[in-house]
Amino acid sequence: MSDDCLFCKMASGALDVGKLHDDDLVFAIKDINPRAPTHLLVIPKEHIVDGRDVRAEHGPTVARMFVVAAALMESLQLAKRGYRIAFNVGEDAGMTVPHLHMHVLGGRRLGAEG
Ligand code: 5GP
Ligand code: ZN
Repeated sequence: MSDDCLFCKMASGALDVGKLHDDDLVFAIKDINPRAPTHLLVIPKEHIVDGRDVRAEHGPTVARMFVVAAALMESLQLAKRGYRIAFNVGEDAGMTVPHLHMHVLGGRRLGAEG
């Protein structure tokens, strides 16, 4: 938990946000500024800054992020047509919230990355 971190505040419940999913390791929300018809964020409760800080012991948390993303997209009937999972890492990627999060984008044909 980092005191001034937006996603830590959401994780702890200090900040009220409509959660699409909430379990012991991760939660999921809709992105406030969606770049696709469906744009979800799957976020670990632990304060991991970004992909550069992921360690082997985070394996169960990272796996849960993928499992939750797949279940949510299946429930939204977007699994069959496909979708994009992306992680921004640091400044050049345009990361704005320094707490690891998975972007899950779907519902339209997406352009190339980058
Ligand atoms: P990043 O740019 O760090 O990879 O992604 C951060 C994402 O968090 C952005 O897509 C941004 O729109 C989203 N975001 C920032 N603040 C909020 C918020 O208060 N609520 C929600 N639901 N999403 C947010
Ligand atoms: Zn945090």
